[in-house]
Amino acid sequence: MALQVRVATTMAEAAGILGSDQRTRLLSGGTLVMRDINEGRFLDGTLLRLTDPAYHQINASGARVELGAGATMAMVLANRDLAFLHPVARAIGGPAIRQMATIGGNLFAATPYGDFAVALLALDAQVMVQSGYGSARAVAIEEFLNARERGASGLVTSVQFAKPQNAADFRFRKVSRVKPKGVSVMSIAVHLPNSASRIGQARVAYGAMAPAPVRARGVERALEGKPLDAAAIQAAKAAALEGTRPVTDAIASDWYRREVAPVHLGRLLAGEGR
Ligand SMILES: Cc1cc2nc3c(=O)[nH]c(=O)nc-3n(C[C@H](O)[C@H](O)[C@H](O)COP(=O)(O)OP(=O)(O)OC[C@H]3O[C@@H](n4cnc5c(N)ncnc54)[C@H](O)[C@@H]3O)c2cc1C
Repeated sequence: MALQVRVATTMAEAAGILGSDQRTRLLSGGTLVMRDINEGRFLDGTLLRLTDPAYHQINASGARVELGAGATMAMVLANRDLAFLHPVARAIGGPAIRQMATIGGNLFAATPYGDFAVALLALDAQVMVQSGYGSARAVAIEEFLNARERGASGLVTSVQFAKPQNAADFRFRKVSRVKPKGVSVMSIAVHLPNSASRIGQARVAYGAMAPAPVRARGVERALEGKPLDAAAIQAAKAAALEGTRPVTDAIASDWYRREVAPVHLGRLLAGEGR
């Protein structure tokens, strides 16, 4: 059987089609789907295009940010209200990839891809998922990423999160061997809101340190309620590997990832350059 192409004009229609046929895949930016087609891994089924303008919309002027799942990395980079996310979007592929690659697609990108999803995990994002023709429901991003491993599906319509009160509270680092377009050895995103110079509700997330992006809960505990000083950073480094299951792939071995993770975490927390 040949590959069919369908077009949905609304998100409800797209969710309905995805829900009724397991062999349908959404073409969001297509940087991964088209590779599957070109390399013969997806030749039998339906490719679904979605033309609903709301799918690509960004709303970032207020305290709560909503990114349409079809918004691209280039759109994030063009938005001044999202300056704190520019280092993340800029770390994804080269200019041609950033022009096409979407937020929604990044949530499904297999490790070691998924750098934007790591940032969204540190921002405690809610993923809006629409299954069938009903309304979209909010799923905590951690739950969404865990379910992804089990093969859960539906149409992701957008992601939502509270904008960091201070841009400096959010930090991101992608570690790669080739610069500027290399694939992640690992990526780290931290959100460290603080009041009276003490960290409250620390969120730390890693990419490529497990089959899907993961929270570094030991690090979060080590930082909670402390000023971000040398002692706290040392405690965070000591807890850096708790809960991780790094992968071995063409980029790095699991051993190497374990070796470098505490070092890069420490540098990011200390605000040091690469
Ligand atoms: C040369 C190259 C370099 C790359 N570099 C990086 C990098 O540095 N960092 C990185 O993180 N990634 C990288 N990628 C991977 C990829 O480009 C990005 O992860 C991108 O964000 C994927 O988005 P997309 O819109 O292209 O996904 P698509 O290819 O359109 O979709 C990917 C998968 O997700 C599903 N999907 C997409 N959107 C939705 C949705 N809204 N609801 C339900 N299912 C959906 C699709 O059906 C498909 O199965 C690279 C890819 C290439 C080819």
